[in-house]
Amino acid sequence: MVKQCQNEECRRDFAAARRDAKFCSERCRGQANARRVRAAQAAVRPSRVSDEGARLAALEARLDGLERVAKAAQAETRQVITMAAEEQVRSRDGLRKSVRELGGRLDGVEATVGQVKASQASARELRQLNERLAALETRVNEVVLVVNEQQSTIQRLDEVLAELIEERETRRSRWR
Ligand SMILES: [Zn+2]
Repeated sequence: MVKQCQNEECRRDFAAARRDAKFCSERCRGQANARRVRAAQAAVRPSRVSDEGARLAALEARLDGLERVAKAAQAETRQVITMAAEEQVRSRDGLRKSVRELGGRLDGVEATVGQVKASQASARELRQLNERLAALETRVNEVVLVVNEQQSTIQRLDEVLAELIEERETRRSRWR
């Protein structure tokens, strides 16, 4: 599933292997812990960085990372669809629907990334940057949702494929 790195200096979207993962790497975990310790030690005045340019730059960096995650998810989907076709999953009840859904998710990710990129461009141009940024942030979070849905569909199909392959192997060994 896609999560955002909780290290303030990173904030990248990453494909998390665990549901409770907070950081994209050990380096980021270390950095975030060190930051927490520093903050606890010193009574620092909070600096108010409400610079819209910085906010847009951070969002753009996040979008770039998200695009990489989405592309990887797309490649994974294509691979699973190919595997499903090879295993003739289509002939089995219920699975035809899963394969169709995967195709739909794939189109959904492409369309959503396209829309986010369009709003990114208008955010740069428009004067009411703040509003645009809020809208853009919402779109980015929507992409995360689509990619997460896609990944759980892939996971389900992967499990079914593994079962099918095992079944086939068992049948084969029986004929030997
Ligand atoms: Zn990180």
